[in-house]
Amino acid sequence: MRKSKNIVVSLILVLLIVVFVSKALQESYLKITSEQAIPWKVNNIFVHSKSVEKSEKKDDKLKIDKKVSTGEIKRKIIVIDPGHANKSNLDKEPIEPNSRSMKIKDGGGAEGVLSKTPEYLVNMQVALKLRTILEERGYIVKMTKAENSKSLGNVERAEIANKENADLAIRIHADSSDNSSVNGASMLIPAPINENTKLIYDKSSKYGKIILDRLVKDVGMQNRGLSERKDMTGFNWSKVPVVLVEMGFLSNAEEDKLLSSTEYQNKLAKALADGIDLALQ
Ligand SMILES: [Zn+2]
Repeated sequence: MRKSKNIVVSLILVLLIVVFVSKALQESYLKITSEQAIPWKVNNIFVHSKSVEKSEKKDDKLKIDKKVSTGEIKRKIIVIDPGHANKSNLDKEPIEPNSRSMKIKDGGGAEGVLSKTPEYLVNMQVALKLRTILEERGYIVKMTKAENSKSLGNVERAEIANKENADLAIRIHADSSDNSSVNGASMLIPAPINENTKLIYDKSSKYGKIILDRLVKDVGMQNRGLSERKDMTGFNWSKVPVVLVEMGFLSNAEEDKLLSSTEYQNKLAKALADGIDLALQ
């Protein structure tokens, strides 16, 4: 009986030990798993927050890229070159780099057949309006000149745009013809004839076409097309894309009248700005 009592006590002890050990093991297991769980969760949150951060950064980059592409951040540089001055400049300059062939700097512009408005005035008025619109749209705009009295040679004009490393130089002119019925707009672009113009030909031609198409469509003019020119000093010295717009004929009575009107000039400037936007986007 005593022996059996001892056995019972031993069994109870063993049972207690088993229960105790198993509980201890369970607790330690829980402790381990909970400790493992916490860093895992923390890590998870951390990883998650990192990926949120990453995607936010990605979104920001997309926004920045968009702003860059729209010119809001890396703003595009446009040089506006209003043609002629209130006096001609008969000095000569080389028609292209390393050339002995000389050409007059500025033979003077056209004149309104009825209004007698000089071309330089129309060119300057539209150029200044275009500058305002482009600046409002975030472009960096540099004028080759803003004074009617300033007479520049065409090498000088080209070198202003070269120095600015302009995305586009746009030269503003109005046309003239012996035939008073001729009307409409055209776009002159450099022909690929030298080291400079070969490099800028593609862009000049692409931009010129886009801007001209927009201009004639918005203003309602006849499209006289693109004209490649080998003989223009201001093109041959240019290292940046360059176009010259002829905004209509001062020798045509109807266009002469329109070209002096503020409302029409606003239309021209806006259409040119829209064309530049389209071309450079
Ligand atoms: Zn002109």
